[in-house]
Amino acid sequence: MFENLDFNTPTIDHIYCDDLDQYRVSLGVLRLDKIHPLINGNKWFKLKHNIEFARRNNLKQLVSFGGAYSNHIYALAAAGKVFGFDTVGFIRGEIVLPLNPVLAFARSQGMKLVAVSRSEYRNKHQQDFIKAIHEQYSNCYILPEGGANDLALQGCAKIVQWLKWHSTAKNRYLAVACGTGSTLAGLIKGISSSAIAPIPELIGIAVLKGQGYLPGEVSRWLQGVTLENPVDWTVMEQYHCGGYAKSSSELHAFLTQFAGFTPIPVEPVYTGKLFYGLFDMIKTGRIPPDSEVIAVHSGGIV
Ligand SMILES: *Cc1c(COP(=O)(O)O)cnc(C)c1O
Repeated sequence: MFENLDFNTPTIDHIYCDDLDQYRVSLGVLRLDKIHPLINGNKWFKLKHNIEFARRNNLKQLVSFGGAYSNHIYALAAAGKVFGFDTVGFIRGEIVLPLNPVLAFARSQGMKLVAVSRSEYRNKHQQDFIKAIHEQYSNCYILPEGGANDLALQGCAKIVQWLKWHSTAKNRYLAVACGTGSTLAGLIKGISSSAIAPIPELIGIAVLKGQGYLPGEVSRWLQGVTLENPVDWTVMEQYHCGGYAKSSSELHAFLTQFAGFTPIPVEPVYTGKLFYGLFDMIKTGRIPPDSEVIAVHSGGIV
């Protein structure tokens, strides 16, 4: 059913700079941000099986939730238009006019935007709220915030098919930015059932504050998932720079420096923190010299 979409195979682009040279670390970037002009990054892999499910079950409307800058809302609106679903986005807080680029795009794709107060938004996954949505939007399929569910995890597991390790380094790492942790959980599942050897350690960089929260979430996503081979994984929780969508002068300085190393675009909410964390881990030896790292570029460039 995805025949009418031109998806590109994601490439792995390498970053070369003195910092990496000094520690003899190879850093590749899996460019999920380049697979499609509108539906890209990890959000496409999270949506894919959900869209198939909705199609199979003859559900006509896709409904979901997000903040005013949600990449999930952006991808859902684009996918809805391409695959012929009506879409509804429940947006946390007020919808400020003129619309920001994410919401303007979502509306241009035909998404109906509904503002939800912050207090109501907190209850969005509760039964009453869900029931009210089903009553108002007949034949709808409700996706959770961030598109995070079991079908999303299955989609993310497939990302590992494009990994190409080009060195003989014994220490391999696969890294991704974590918001809900479901992409990381999917990668863990994918790596565990792949034939990749040696198996890389998976590293999640938490983009939000809340000590212990994301490791707990990843474990929860993995409950009931059979891992064929054991996989080491960690969530690094010291690179959130003050919390979700918050920044710091260190992050800012790093991103300026990073732009001098490579033309690969990043943003400060997800992928910027991913590389900020990885470079620090390399400098402090948490990722030892002579390692090979592949960072998943999860998109987010609007
Ligand atoms: C949503 C998003 C993430 C986080 O993915 P999770 O599965 O929620 O952990 C990472 N990077 C980008 C660019 C995103 O849009």
